[in-house]
Amino acid sequence: MPRYHELLASLRSAFPQPVSDPVHDGYVVFSILRALDQVDALKSQAPVLGEAVEPDYERAREFRLDEVGRPLEAVIPKLVRTLQGMFIWGHPRSQINVVPNPTIASIIGYLLPLIYNPNLVSEESSRLFAEAEVRVAAMLADLVSYEPEKARGLFTFGGTGTFLYGVKVGLEKACPGAGRSGLREDAVIIASDQSHYGCWTVASWLGIGQDNVLRVPTNLDNSIDLEALEALLGDSIRSGRKIAAIVATMGSTDAFGIDDLQAIIAIRDRLAAEFKLSYRPHVHADAVIGWAWSVFNDYSFLDNSLGFRGRTVRALAAAHHRMQHLKLADSVGVDFHKTGYVPYISSLVLFANGEDLGLIARQRNSMPYLFQSGDHHPGMVTLETSRAAGGVMAAMANLLLLGKEGYRALLGHAVEMAEVLREGIESHPNLTVLNGDNVGPVTLFRAYPDHVNTFTVKDRERTDSTMRDELRAYNDYNRRIFQRVQTEALSGQGVVLSLTDCYRHTDYGEPMVALKSYVLSPFTDDGRMQSMIQHVLAARSEAMKGNAAGGGWMSA
Ligand SMILES: *Cc1c(COP(=O)(O)O)cnc(C)c1O
Repeated sequence: MPRYHELLASLRSAFPQPVSDPVHDGYVVFSILRALDQVDALKSQAPVLGEAVEPDYERAREFRLDEVGRPLEAVIPKLVRTLQGMFIWGHPRSQINVVPNPTIASIIGYLLPLIYNPNLVSEESSRLFAEAEVRVAAMLADLVSYEPEKARGLFTFGGTGTFLYGVKVGLEKACPGAGRSGLREDAVIIASDQSHYGCWTVASWLGIGQDNVLRVPTNLDNSIDLEALEALLGDSIRSGRKIAAIVATMGSTDAFGIDDLQAIIAIRDRLAAEFKLSYRPHVHADAVIGWAWSVFNDYSFLDNSLGFRGRTVRALAAAHHRMQHLKLADSVGVDFHKTGYVPYISSLVLFANGEDLGLIARQRNSMPYLFQSGDHHPGMVTLETSRAAGGVMAAMANLLLLGKEGYRALLGHAVEMAEVLREGIESHPNLTVLNGDNVGPVTLFRAYPDHVNTFTVKDRERTDSTMRDELRAYNDYNRRIFQRVQTEALSGQGVVLSLTDCYRHTDYGEPMVALKSYVLSPFTDDGRMQSMIQHVLAARSEAMKGNAAGGGWMSA
């Protein structure tokens, strides 16, 4: 027998069997269980798995492919090792960022296509998975009140991908033929200064150019300044530039700022008419975070049947008030992997008018090896050729599992916990909330030394340029507090928070650092939120001591 035949025999057992073999199926499932079992050994009460190990990139670069492979049993521990020190996003003391913990249903949703490997490029290679994508898109179109008969949606490689689709279609509307013959005109993307940096990525990759992303100032609630938007839009049109897209940020990354989409649409329509534009500038709603609030579109805040507290109802209703207008946008980006409790990556871009996608379709004859049968071929328009179905199935799983009510309870709880935190912070003299009128699950706050009046300091810091040195010193102070909290957290104590280097720029151009709590975990409760404040205060005391020892870090 040739040597390779022996190898092949053992390699065959490394695959799930193509025909029924219950004993081997047991081996597959048990191998997965073994891996999970080894992960379980890393769990404790701490918000991280095992012990924090610092990544060693030097050593990592020295890795080489072995001549001879090893058995599955030996591979599993090597894989599980990766989880050492990994954050447990769903831990009640973990409030790091907009990263959810996935449900069991969404994990199974992801797992099935991993085994059977559909490719969403076409129904030929994905069968009912292709239909599942259409189902999820239809559910979401209905959720945001698009006309389901006209709307179309595609899953793509992330929120940035949804952005790319929106702007790509908008660019083709503004500069017809750009996809074919290249961009020959000056085109701009207009977005707020709180919009995601994905704007720049997209501008760069589409050849629009990063310098052609025009950033509009924001109001103190982090929503776009409408007058400034109108002025900038008018100027751009007058100077002969094409509007590739106007981006409405529907839930900003750091502060959950929500633009007034209805007003943006009105401005767009007014200027398109006034300047007799040959195209209607495309409005893309970057709702990768905010989309989930659409589940409140038909919730009666008056009856409040789920029993949220007054402050929570007010916050949810305020977010809903803006989010209900998503239906007015030409396209909407949705990340299930942010506020949808689904694993990465699960991103959907929806178009109000599915025919818009025709603008970016390829010619069929350019893809000779595909589409031999069937007539549903998303690959005619998608950026990707191969497209995994995991994101679709995970999203589907959660939509079925949770329904609108489940999502309302999860998001409502997150917002309620953020409200508890804000109350706690506001009642402490050394802490202050920066995004006080915020209506989402994220709280940005700062700590100050004892002598500082926290009622007035944040406004002075923001507006008074003579405060520059103090502002910088308080930035450092909060960075140090964060370091302490972080070090404690990685050793299994305390809470995991995050830090943003620039919550906003001050009026005189300095970045304001903020501690950040992003609550998504359904496992958090009132007590946990209170203890979080205690941890921050303890870290604050330590930071104060450090200063005294270091010999005065600030000339007061
Ligand atoms: C996270 C985020 C993005 C980018 O989405 P990814 O899924 O991380 O690619 C875009 N816009 C906003 C507002 C975001 O928060």
